[in-house]
Amino acid sequence: MEDCIFCKIIKGEIPSSKVYEDDQMLAFKDIAPKAETHLLVIPKKHLKNFNELADEEETLLTAHMMQKIPYIARSAGLSDYRLVTNNGAGAGQVVFHLHFHILGGSSLPGF
Ligand code: 5GP
Ligand code: ZN
Repeated sequence: MEDCIFCKIIKGEIPSSKVYEDDQMLAFKDIAPKAETHLLVIPKKHLKNFNELADEEETLLTAHMMQKIPYIARSAGLSDYRLVTNNGAGAGQVVFHLHFHILGGSSLPGF
């Protein structure tokens, strides 16, 4: 996707602080952290949002990402964390390349 900021991060055209990478996914620090530790976890395949990850052909990618997230959080020193995805503009999604927010490092307010 030409104009996708996260696709540009994947291609190395925009710098990022990577904390995990494999052939299918990438995790990096959020540029404007909303918690002491704020990571973004994205698939290398451009999917618009969580709904697209639910497509049947993405079953293996879904499993892979869900299984790596606890490892990524633990590697960042987090035992407790919040996992969030904003699905759609009405839910606060601004970047339309699927991403999971990992938030932690200090006590988070409940909601
Ligand atoms: P959304 O609101 O779409 O769920 O979250 C998008 C997130 O991407 C925001 O937390 C924002 O700070 C982060 N972000 C936007 N542009 C960049 C960037 O160029 N680099 C990094 N590391 N994070 C970004
Ligand atoms: Zn993209």
